[in-house]
Amino acid sequence: MNDPVDRFQAAAQLFKALAHPARLAILEVLGNGEECVCHLETMLGFRQAYLSQQLAVLREAGILQDRREGWNIYYRIVREDVFDILSAIRSTLPEYNRREDLTELHECDCPKCKRKDSPAVDSKSFYVQNQIG
Ligand SMILES: [Zn+2]
Repeated sequence: MNDPVDRFQAAAQLFKALAHPARLAILEVLGNGEECVCHLETMLGFRQAYLSQQLAVLREAGILQDRREGWNIYYRIVREDVFDILSAIRSTLPEYNRREDLTELHECDCPKCKRKDSPAVDSKSFYVQNQIG
């Protein structure tokens, strides 16, 4: 005997995982690519225990995957269809589009941000540009 509602279970589980302001904020930051936990902590201002709890929900739902590199744990979005869902929400809620609060520069000590500030990277891209020109 098939419950006619059964086939909606997976969709309901996915919405349940997404249905939290902190988790939507995490997904917005990770929309730009993989980030380490310390970066998310700085960008969002969450306590680490709280952040870990929200990341675990998204990971258990199969939306995020983590990997360890040295002392750092990195998270990335592995369920690409989540982007479609988020952009659908964005198009119905104008206030969802205010990204400045998340994209403004924060003082962050994570390896990725440090690399971005590193003069070695700048001089390399300068060199490459000159090679082309
Ligand atoms: Zn960072």
